[in-house]
Formats: sequence, C-alpha cells, structure tokens
Amino acid sequence: MWFDGAMTATIDTSSPAAADDPLAAPDYAAFAPQLRVSGCRRCGLAATRTNIVVDRGDPAARIMAIGEGPGEQEDLAGRAFVGRAGRVLDELLRAVGLDPERHLLIANVVKCRPPGNRVPHADEVAACLPYLHRQLELVGPHTVLLLGATAYRHFVPAQRSFAMEREVGRRFSLEAWPGIAFYALYHPAYLLRSPGKKPLALGHLEKVRGEIEAQGHWPA
Ligand code: URA
Ligand code: SF4
Repeated sequence: MWFDGAMTATIDTSSPAAADDPLAAPDYAAFAPQLRVSGCRRCGLAATRTNIVVDRGDPAARIMAIGEGPGEQEDLAGRAFVGRAGRVLDELLRAVGLDPERHLLIANVVKCRPPGNRVPHADEVAACLPYLHRQLELVGPHTVLLLGATAYRHFVPAQRSFAMEREVGRRFSLEAWPGIAFYALYHPAYLLRSPGKKPLALGHLEKVRGEIEAQGHWPA
C-alpha cells in the first residue's frame, strides 16, 4: 500500500505543467474548464480578450457547430454564440427541432475575440486550432456544421479558393476526420445582414436533419 502511495506522489509532482495543459486533459469535463482558466497566450488575441470562450451546449451531443470567433457578447459572457448572431442560430436550430443547449456543442475556430470582430489572422488560427481539434476528438461528433467561410476554410484543403455561395448546404467528408459528416452552412451573422437568405439556411438544416434521421442518429 505504501508503495502505491509513493508512486502516485512521484508522478504528480514530476509533471506539474502537463497537469494544467488543456490539451493533455483526458476528457471534455476536464478540458473545457482548464482551457477557460488557462490564461492562454499562444496568440495576440490574448491581449484584448475578457474571457476565453470555449463552447456552449452539451459535450455529450454528437452534433457540433463551429463558428469563427467570439463577438463582444461572447467575450463578456464567456459562452459561444450568445449575442445577436447566436439568437439567429438558435432560432434556426429550434425550427428543425434541435435544442441548442442539449442537442449540440457550439464552438469557434478561435477562442478569444478578435478586436472589432475582424476575421482572425492565419497565425491566430494556427495557434488556436489545436484546441478545436482536441474538442473534436473529445466530443466525437458524427456531424459537424461549419458556420461560414472561416470555419469552412480551415477544414477544406488549404490552397483551394471557393465561393461560399456554392459551398453552402454541401455535405462532405475528410480523411483526417473519418466518420464525421461535415456541412458548410451560412454564418448566422451573414443571415443578420441578409435575412432574405434565412429560408435557404433553413432548407440546408432540413437537409442535415433528413440525413441524420436516415442514419438513425437524430437526437430530438
Ligand atoms: N460569431 C461567431 O462566429 N461566434 C460566436 O461565438 C459569436 C459570433
Ligand atoms: Fe490562446 Fe486561442 Fe485565445 Fe489565441 S485565441 S490566446 S490561441 S485561446
């Protein structure tokens, strides 16, 4: 017995840094709070943020939605998509029968607010992507909704140029993420500026619902 105790003490004190690294967290219940309090300074967005915004929703859900980065409300609240764009997103999700708090986990490409809500720079995205990738690994979704061009760009092969208008509603798979159905969708902030596109956006989500239902995975 004394031997077990001594071993544990040796392991714990030998790697104090790893114990605090969210990327080393064994499960989502450890990952999310560790990242929130990590004080991460891997990129310049750390200088102006209020909160590190990890997610909103249920990590046990098998559907993930991925936006660009926190806006002002998200930065203040520490939760993803809780401002005006978030209300549009929730409205569309509810219209197809999804409860945004229970049936999805909603996250962003970068976890800290870019000043003035500008598009995050490539170096900021590169610094933050390991967190998103770990989120994907720990959640293990069957479906990922990529909200807008920033999220889409970071999952499709690097050099390709594209017009979002042609990609939206499209389902695709990626070798790097076997077993996940990805969908490119309009970003809800775009729908705020172009409300005429909302029926189209709803149609895309209805298609997603139909395909998940056909697999027997619809959660609602
Ligand atoms: N826009 C995003 O891309 N993400 C948020 O969390 C809020 C607005
Ligand atoms: Fe760290 Fe990501 Fe925030 Fe940059 S955006 S400081 S990488 S958590």
